[in-house]
Amino acid sequence: MKPLRCLTDLPVDGFEQLATDWGQRPFAGRNLRRWVYERRSHHFSEMTDLSGKFRGQLSEATVVRSLGIHSRREDDGGTTAFLLQLDDGQRVETVLIPEGDRNTVCVSTQVGCAVACVFCASGMKGLRRNLRAGEIVEQVMLVQESLPETERVTNVVVMGIGEPTMNFAALCQALETWNHPDGLGLGARRITISTVGYPNKIDQLASLGKEFGLAVSLHAPRQDLREQLLPGAGKVPLPDLLAAARRYYQKTHRRVTFEYVLLDGINAFARDAEQLCQLLRGFPCFVNLIPMNPVDGLPYRRPPAEMVNAFRNILEQSGIEVTQRKTRGDGIAAACGQLRLREEDAEATEVG
Ligand code: SAH
Repeated sequence: MKPLRCLTDLPVDGFEQLATDWGQRPFAGRNLRRWVYERRSHHFSEMTDLSGKFRGQLSEATVVRSLGIHSRREDDGGTTAFLLQLDDGQRVETVLIPEGDRNTVCVSTQVGCAVACVFCASGMKGLRRNLRAGEIVEQVMLVQESLPETERVTNVVVMGIGEPTMNFAALCQALETWNHPDGLGLGARRITISTVGYPNKIDQLASLGKEFGLAVSLHAPRQDLREQLLPGAGKVPLPDLLAAARRYYQKTHRRVTFEYVLLDGINAFARDAEQLCQLLRGFPCFVNLIPMNPVDGLPYRRPPAEMVNAFRNILEQSGIEVTQRKTRGDGIAAACGQLRLREEDAEATEVG
């Protein structure tokens, strides 16, 4: 039997075509799209303005959605990590981060990751597979549906499991569906993509012609250290990476954020901060400092608070705008990809 097609895997402008392929009028496709994204229906039986024939065709060959929630964990501040079940038994994580009047969703793009940054849980078992566009899109819909009626998802950060630019076509389609008024209608400025930073991919993102935010995982002010920490991406010469980030800014007028995970004894010394200042002097950017979230089985630790503060002060004194990620979700293992690994390991222990 052919696997069922999932409607969220269609591009937003693909619904008319689906309808006409099955002998329906284009407006039936538009109505169908409205059921999927506006009314958020899960069942064809509710789609009462579609003909019985069309509904029959749809339910034979397609499903509306494909993601399920395997489990969720919430901390005191409301940060909620969802472990999602995919239709082939794989799992990925999505995290809801409520903060003030924002509800940010952190979405995954791959099951596992091929980049293998040394401090990250996501790449510890390599890449299993890419997510389909619909599986990326639906993460935001699922979180939206878990919120009270009065609350909305306001922001999306593509900072979960996976390297988004290594699943580029699906990423771009998901961005389009989130952003499009006939999709989720989320403003491009409210969507940020985080990447290890391949210059050609940054250029391709810029050429989408949208004001998506871009965050680049820098993590080191020197080439040799970056190569050690990001084995799958550190070979990109730093001047090339910065030049691509600059082109992104020139094209989109969005200041790029450089992410910097602080690892005790490795990249968090005062001289690292000073070198980072040199590297970024005059660059239209923000630096997002992220004290390392501990990962089971990895030897890296976050530096003591005084060192984090000292690092931050050095950057600020040289005029760099710094944001610091609150270390949230430790208690619920929200550190990128950890929930999935812990769950898999627990199941392996149960079976074995
Ligand atoms: N692959 C993309 C997006 C996923 S991770 C990227 O690398 O940018 C989002 C951010 O979390 C990245 O900056 C990543 O380096 C960082 N990160 C990964 N593991 C972490 C950990 N254990 N503690 C803190 N930050 C981590």
